[in-house]
Amino acid sequence: MESTPEKLEMLYEGKAKKLYATSDPDLVICYFKDDATAFNAKKRGTIEDKGAINNRMSELFFGLLENAGLKTHFVRRLNDREMLCKRLQIIPVETVVRNIVAGSMAKRLGLEEGRELSFPIVEYYYKSDPLDDPLIYPEHAILFEWATAPELETIRSLALKVNEELRRFLDGRGIILVDFKIEFGRYHGDILLGDEICPDTCRFWDKASRRKLDKDRFRRDLGDVEQAYQEMLRRVED
Ligand code: UDP
Repeated sequence: MESTPEKLEMLYEGKAKKLYATSDPDLVICYFKDDATAFNAKKRGTIEDKGAINNRMSELFFGLLENAGLKTHFVRRLNDREMLCKRLQIIPVETVVRNIVAGSMAKRLGLEEGRELSFPIVEYYYKSDPLDDPLIYPEHAILFEWATAPELETIRSLALKVNEELRRFLDGRGIILVDFKIEFGRYHGDILLGDEICPDTCRFWDKASRRKLDKDRFRRDLGDVEQAYQEMLRRVED
């Protein structure tokens, strides 16, 4: 077992995670909280054990993606709530991949949730709390120098590969990957997948019943939020 660098000062506290510097300048420790927010923090709450579940689920998904040859920031899980990660320079563009109409796409375009898309679509959002993460064209990111054109090409291709891998894996467990959000960052000249992959950032529906097993249970007050997170973890751990 490799030695773990010493945990140093907190660098940043987000809505669901805290980030700590370590004695290794290339590594950070990511702490997963139980705090839940929705609608840009206008709705707040806690989901019991969410931090531990998201930490473990992210470990499993990052491991799966690494095995498929995709580079991520994940180094290893340290304990229930902490993960050791490579320190990325985060690109302020959130990438969303959709396989089925849901959420903001349904609302924006007046479509019914649940319609299957004939091919996955990749969307980009500018990462800005004051602006509510607006939908952008990739050209906006290039124009305003949030990312370069080659970086965006890489991001698009990686996002579609992540979708393929996760979709196949989840399908084998009777789960539909409806959509998800991922973030990327720069690391020594490379683009790595960062952040987390969990029910906070993905929509998961049970294939047979179409029951929601993700944060929409919290966003929409559907009840059984904790149970849904636990069930998702059980099904991906199996
Ligand atoms: N998502 C996220 N963080 C955000 C916005 C969206 O993780 O700030 C995820 C969300 O869980 C879903 C996907 O990205 O899996 C697409 O979300 P959508 O644009 O439909 O927005 P929402 O309905 O969540 O407002």
